[in-house]
Amino acid sequence: MLDDATATRIREAVDAGFEEQLAFTADLVRFPSLRGQEHTAQDFMARAYGAEGLDVDRWQVRVEDIQHLPGFSPVSISYDNAYNVVGSHRAAVNGGRSLILNGHIDVVPEGPHEMWNSPPYEPRTQGGWMYGRGAGDMKAGLVGCLYAYKAVRRAGFTPTADIFLQSVIEEECTGNGALACLARGYRADAAVIPEPSGERLGKAQTGTIWIQVTVKGLPAHAAYSERGFNAIKAAIRLIRALETLEAKWNAEKDRHRHHAHLPHPINFNIGKIEGGDWPASVPARCTFDLRAAIYADDDIKARCAELEACIRETAAGDEFMSNMPPEVVYHGFLAEGYILENAEEPTAVLEAYHKLVTGTDLEGRAGTGTTDARFFGLYADTPGLVYGPVARDVHGFNECVDLDSVRRVTQTIALFIADWCGVQET
Ligand SMILES: [Zn+2]
Repeated sequence: MLDDATATRIREAVDAGFEEQLAFTADLVRFPSLRGQEHTAQDFMARAYGAEGLDVDRWQVRVEDIQHLPGFSPVSISYDNAYNVVGSHRAAVNGGRSLILNGHIDVVPEGPHEMWNSPPYEPRTQGGWMYGRGAGDMKAGLVGCLYAYKAVRRAGFTPTADIFLQSVIEEECTGNGALACLARGYRADAAVIPEPSGERLGKAQTGTIWIQVTVKGLPAHAAYSERGFNAIKAAIRLIRALETLEAKWNAEKDRHRHHAHLPHPINFNIGKIEGGDWPASVPARCTFDLRAAIYADDDIKARCAELEACIRETAAGDEFMSNMPPEVVYHGFLAEGYILENAEEPTAVLEAYHKLVTGTDLEGRAGTGTTDARFFGLYADTPGLVYGPVARDVHGFNECVDLDSVRRVTQTIALFIADWCGVQET
């Protein structure tokens, strides 16, 4: 444990830099870093890492560099603008344990702007919350990592182990940004990911599968609908069958101890649907996107096979679809679940400083969505600790993050850095 004087200096340095931290966070929220448009926000992060004296590595993520690796998810978009950024503190002496601080720059689409109380990319602070798309998920955490590191330096200390600040793309759809960091060789003794976990430690997370299903129909004039085959109605039948499968998977929850306590751990989401082209024509095509969760300890291949079987069997019971089976394409997450294991050491350090800063014991959390923590834990033998601020309405309207919580998390991470990596007076 750090001595009281050291801990106090570091916490005060977080407070002293907090206004600047919030201004920087707001600046980052102004970048609409949607998928395929992350590059300018990444340039902004690269400049900030460089200004802090970190060694900046900015590179294009390329499918061919990662597609052979476990954890890769298939993609159907171009990676022309897909840049990762890592800022490295390389210690002159090696006195402690190395650390990755990882956050994602990408945000999900904001939806109709008129349903926001204020424009999603014009951050607004009100009542101790910052509003904006990505404020909670997870720009406040990503920036918190940088300012935690800055606070250690501003308090007059130099970490005595390597620290890698990672700003990655693609967390919301594949995880290929974090995977690209592994492919590039970044390794450490622990990774901390300040996703908005409500100041709780992620103990387990579900996996995620994305599939896109295309149903073909037979067009005909609506006046003679019986001569055609309605692809939209067929897609609805498939969606109903998938709902039944979702219920079946939830009914199995007692066999999966990490999520057994939750009422509905497995969520299927029909997130997109498109089909038809004319009110008076029987639709010839319908495509929908499904996001399915799987348990933390599931075999992802077996679950994919169940999804495919559900679609195949439903189609087989239909005269038209049995001859023209729906097409299933994997074009995003193929994310295994993850259970935090072999993490006693970093967990103990996090618990100690969470307690010091908040006055409460660190609680665990079973996540019902995925995070990039799985890459560190499953494929690099590195405990991936998800621990970040309180946020509301992530992926929804009026997404916001609790600024007191951001301050506490930044303090906790700064103290974690100092303890885990070790520090010496600069
Ligand atoms: Zn996130």
